[in-house]
Amino acid sequence: MRDIICSKCNTEYFLQHFKMPLKDKGDTLYCKCGNELYSYDKGTDDYNLIEVGEYRRRMQALEEERSKYPFCECGLRMVPRSGPYGKFYGCSKYPRGCKKVIKR
Ligand SMILES: [Zn+2]
Ligand SMILES: [Zn+2]
Repeated sequence: MRDIICSKCNTEYFLQHFKMPLKDKGDTLYCKCGNELYSYDKGTDDYNLIEVGEYRRRMQALEEERSKYPFCECGLRMVPRSGPYGKFYGCSKYPRGCKKVIKR
C-alpha cells in the first residue's frame, strides 16, 4: 500500500489497490477536506483511500477480536467459522492438517 498525504490538511491516507476491478469506470478520490488526492482511469485497477488513523483503529480492533479466540491443541489460533450445524471455532490450519473444532 502506498501512502498519500494531503497537501492541504496533512491527513495521511493509505491507497488501497484492488486488482481485477469490478466497477471498471475510473474515479477520482478526494480527501475529507475536499482536496483531490488520486485519480485513475477506466481500464485500470480500482483504488480506494483509507485514513491511516482509521486503518490502524480497524486493525487494532481486529487484533483485539482475534486475541479472544481459543488456541488449538496443535498450538495455532482457532478462528470463528460457521457451518450447517451452527457456529464453531476451527483450527486455522484446517483444511491443511488439523480438523479440531470447538463449539461456540
Ligand atoms: Zn485534506
Ligand atoms: Zn489445530
